[in-house]
Amino acid sequence: MFAGDHDIERAVAELAAILPEPLRPLARVAYDYRWTWSVDGSALFQAIDAERWARSRHNPRRLLSESHPLTLERAATNPALVERVNYLAAELAGDRARPELAGAVNTAHPVAFFCCEFGIHGSLPIYSGGLGVLAGDILKEASDLALPMVGVGLMYRSGYFHQRIDVTGFQHEFWIDTDPERLPAVKVTGSDGLPVSISVPVDGEDVTVHIWRVDVGRVPLYLLDTDLPENSQVGRWITTRLYDSNRAIRLAQYAILGVGGVRALRALGISPTVYHMNEGHPALGVFELLAQAKAQPHISPEAAWRAVRDQVVFTTHTPIPAGNETYQREEVLKMLGRIADMAGERESFLALGRIDPANTHEPSGLTPLALRSSRHANAVSRRHGQVARALWHPLFPGQAVEDVPISHVTNGVHVPTWLHGPMRELLDKYLGNGWLTRADQPATWAPVNNISAKELWEARCAARRQLTEMVAHRAVSDRLGRGEALDYAEAAGTSGIGFDPDRLTIGFARRLATYKRIHLVALLPERAIALVGGAHPVQFVFAGKAHPADNAAKEVVRQVFSLKKAPGVAGRAAFLEDYDIPLAGHLVGGCDVWINVPRPPLEASGTSGMKSCLGGGLQLSVLDGWWAEAYDGTNGWAINGDVDPDTDAQDQRDACALFDLMENEVVPMFNERDADGIPQRWVAMMRRSLLTNGPRFSATRMVLDYAGRVYPPIDRRGMTGQTGPKSSRPPDRLHHP
Ligand SMILES: *Cc1c(COP(=O)(O)O)cnc(C)c1O
Repeated sequence: MFAGDHDIERAVAELAAILPEPLRPLARVAYDYRWTWSVDGSALFQAIDAERWARSRHNPRRLLSESHPLTLERAATNPALVERVNYLAAELAGDRARPELAGAVNTAHPVAFFCCEFGIHGSLPIYSGGLGVLAGDILKEASDLALPMVGVGLMYRSGYFHQRIDVTGFQHEFWIDTDPERLPAVKVTGSDGLPVSISVPVDGEDVTVHIWRVDVGRVPLYLLDTDLPENSQVGRWITTRLYDSNRAIRLAQYAILGVGGVRALRALGISPTVYHMNEGHPALGVFELLAQAKAQPHISPEAAWRAVRDQVVFTTHTPIPAGNETYQREEVLKMLGRIADMAGERESFLALGRIDPANTHEPSGLTPLALRSSRHANAVSRRHGQVARALWHPLFPGQAVEDVPISHVTNGVHVPTWLHGPMRELLDKYLGNGWLTRADQPATWAPVNNISAKELWEARCAARRQLTEMVAHRAVSDRLGRGEALDYAEAAGTSGIGFDPDRLTIGFARRLATYKRIHLVALLPERAIALVGGAHPVQFVFAGKAHPADNAAKEVVRQVFSLKKAPGVAGRAAFLEDYDIPLAGHLVGGCDVWINVPRPPLEASGTSGMKSCLGGGLQLSVLDGWWAEAYDGTNGWAINGDVDPDTDAQDQRDACALFDLMENEVVPMFNERDADGIPQRWVAMMRRSLLTNGPRFSATRMVLDYAGRVYPPIDRRGMTGQTGPKSSRPPDRLHHP
């Protein structure tokens, strides 16, 4: 019962109409990203037409409408395949039929989760990195928990950029047309059959906005779109690129997301019980809420602001300046002046975004605005909570640092999305029926103790083998694409000199922001080359994108590339282009060791390491972000996380610590084998990592934390008596520390 239901039904019927009868249930499946975390979802679509599946970027709407009729007919006459179709469709229907959690949050008054990016699946390119993937994982987990939620974001017409690296190691960017008409997305229409339309004042224009709906399980995600003929060229451009390099366009995006998002929900008949502003980008929405509150008769300005604050919660995701942008008075007033006037708040609009509201020379930012206009604010790990309280302390003069009202909810990852392959099979076998619904409980993971070292090791080796095959394949095509010499290109895929399925495989993949310090690996080149060429060689896989305007980060890619000329490196180190969700899935599932060396204390959380833990990967990380609260001395390796104002000295020291650990602990432990060829100490550490990190860094734990501590209360009785595939939760599940 959400706006757009009819539009989805119509689209499903249209797609079903072109399918052979036995495949028709797939039309429904195709219009709900729920299949992406069903065990058989991707495999089933692949079984229909593997070639088309790859070419459609794993988009089932395209697969089903672009496959040759004879191919579909062949699938429809395959009884085993049709049985799988019916099973998947029944699973989806059962999932949707579960009753929602009862309480103050319900379908009529859901949580509205606002974010400028959502990483749901590789086929929906409206994300750049960790923030978006986290937002996607939150929607998926809310669906699994039957927590009523709607998502609000932007339908970027060309999303985030794609990356190519040239032969000198320099990054180039290009953009691909998203074409929502070919996504499992529908434009929401009103009772008149026309698209629901709102408008947002930006600069001198009233920008018209249409609303797409994409289903993520039980959670509808509404995506705002300004690429309409009635808008000016600039107006149309607003929802073109995620994190557009033009500051004025970014301001316009924040206006569409915040103000437009609140207006859109209203136009759709949805009245949220809480607005969750995920990162500062949607914070301008509070002025629309304020205007709505002020429209009530006899309300004082103070009471109107209280009414706004009571409905808003805010999560801050980074202490680095690029994530907490500020804008000059003139910039703000040009693009957003009419929004400020709308609530009669031109000066306070600017002042609320300053650290010192009285200092008219200070630029304004969205994070101070969000902190001041929400009833609850949280950071995303324990350490980030401390860092954020110190960072934003000036906003709360007269209060002690520890009393700054920013708590933390540590991030987590959606386990069914990030756990697959051999480790998924193994855990399904040992952790018992329905274990994913209890993924946040340590007891659920206890049977990991009963898995033999042999089985754990075999699963690890099988996952690594899948990865090395993929890496070899991608590395060869990336190198050919760059115009590298043939022998260098082929080296990655040549057995004997290329990637080896039995070799210790180390992953380093993340956004190439400077603070992530991928350059530490290149800082001590002779030690890096010795590791790759030593008696027990290791192999490295790198991936990551630098923001198009971040030349320092692009330079770092070049530094890492310079290592490639050393002998032996060609087949043992690869930089894979175009880091995205599918590539991340391969890497976190297959790497033995996952390295993270951010400059402390700038890593708010980090989540790729959590994903890697699920696949049996071990962490080698600076004690910052999530790892500062996860590391216990037995479940991975740690590099000192103290802050040193002399960043060059710190880089040198941390690079040494990184290589010391690799040379003295990681490599010997991996190669220390018993009579059966099993590295017992390594497997014991994998076990500790699964037992300790699995439950704590699951999205189940995270979303239950939000539900229990941040959102309006949920009636715990509502958690009993559910039916369906992810059902029957014990009523005590909302008790979290
Ligand atoms: C998980 C993920 C991230 C976040 O990783 P960090 O640990 O925060 O660096 C970024 N990009 C993609 C594609 C991811 O899947």
